Amino acid sequence: MERLPIFLNLVDRHCLVVGGGVIAERKIRLLQSAGATLSVLSPTLSEALQSEVDAGAVSHIRNHYQHVFDERYWLVIAATDDNELNRQIGTDAERDGVLCNVVDDNAASTFILPAIVDRSPVVIAIGTEGNAPVLAQQLKGQLEQWLPQRIGELAAQAGRWRELVKKRFATLRLRRRFWQAFFTGPIAEHLLAGRQREAESAMRAELIGEFDEVTASAGEAWIVGAGPGDPGLITLRGRQLLAQADVVLYDRLVSQAVLDFARKEADFIFVGKRAGSRAMPQEDINALLVQHVQAGRRVCRLKGGDPFVFGRGGEEAQALAAAELPFQIVPGITAAIGGAAYAGIPLTMRGVSGSVTLATARLNGNDGPNWAQVINAGDTLALYMGTSNVAEIRRQLLLNGIGTDTPVAFVENATTDAQRSRLCTVATMQTVAANAAIASPSIIYVGAAVASANDLQWFTGSSHARRFPALLESEAVSIASI
Ligand code: SAH
Repeated sequence: MERLPIFLNLVDRHCLVVGGGVIAERKIRLLQSAGATLSVLSPTLSEALQSEVDAGAVSHIRNHYQHVFDERYWLVIAATDDNELNRQIGTDAERDGVLCNVVDDNAASTFILPAIVDRSPVVIAIGTEGNAPVLAQQLKGQLEQWLPQRIGELAAQAGRWRELVKKRFATLRLRRRFWQAFFTGPIAEHLLAGRQREAESAMRAELIGEFDEVTASAGEAWIVGAGPGDPGLITLRGRQLLAQADVVLYDRLVSQAVLDFARKEADFIFVGKRAGSRAMPQEDINALLVQHVQAGRRVCRLKGGDPFVFGRGGEEAQALAAAELPFQIVPGITAAIGGAAYAGIPLTMRGVSGSVTLATARLNGNDGPNWAQVINAGDTLALYMGTSNVAEIRRQLLLNGIGTDTPVAFVENATTDAQRSRLCTVATMQTVAANAAIASPSIIYVGAAVASANDLQWFTGSSHARRFPALLESEAVSIASI
């Protein structure tokens, strides 16, 4: 992070904007909305600024900038149309220890202004450290759409109730539990729907009634599928629960971008396998899960893909059930489904494939899967955990009557920036996997429908970019100069 976002209290603080044009006008409005006392320094003023001055809202210093500030300002914005002069103002402000923004010049500014979503008291500042202001504007647009209209009123009302809640619940943890339930519960719904009176009576009932510490302090486990890799592929439900968890137990296949959806203060516990060392035994994971829930924590057990597809989520749920602890299970997009979509492989296809088998190709001790059963079970086969076992898989496919020209695809690191895929046939699969050094995690797809990847591949990992409509030559020239 190059710059720290902070929220400044400007109420009744004296601020100066140098410049009298449209940009200065915009900055003045912004500072006014935060309650600043304003002066504008410029030999001339736009009409709108002149009327602000006439109305007494802004004082006017009718002058050119003289390399010194006429008094001690709290904050200065240099917004003239002369870049060099603006920079000079930045240097002078730095010398005097005054906060200064130089319009369109990040390097010369001690602070830069974010894009702002203002639903006071909910205020969201979006910055790109000057790299992509248009992106910041787009994010602002998306947030504006996504935020409930009355989110500000909801926050303000919560603020008015804070003291009451503090009196009602003695410990910080209980209060946090209360507020977590509050913002996703019926009272917040009343407020967001503008039903103030209903909200107040529900709140009264809540505070005198049995919002019981038992419910509030009870731990719970959420076994959540994180999806195959792309952080956009976790479910909304999974993400909401993750954001409330006190403890996050996660596997190797869960990406950092998904973990970032959790609260920063949560305890993050890695229970996967690190390169060169053994994985934590399943019984230990079960025990850890039970232990944290019994201690009253809300635990998010985050697993790659789906928890019930080769995820051992079943065993963890059993351990919780045996200990009579509450849990929820949130599905995820399993790797075979995610990989198929991102590699352009329809798993079923009318007239080509009417069924799909998800199977493990892992050897269990010396035993492999029941190959005859797996291979004959359906039209399209998606094999997990097969990367180190390609020769044996090929041998079994041939033994069980799959033709040498049957299409095969390897999809490695599916749905992530590192995704690689290779399309081949049963005949060539072993050489292709070896030459491309296909590694774990990968899915191996087998079957006639797999050939569609030839035409349907659309995702290309890190080089993936939405295609723009073709440019006219004249446009290409102007793009080059952006
Ligand atoms: N519960 C997980 C599977 C875990 S087993 C799920 O539903 O996806 C681990 C195996 O999953 C890996 O060996 C690999 O075969 C597959 N896998 C997981 N993530 C993958 C990814 N991003 N790309 C390809 N295969 C993946």
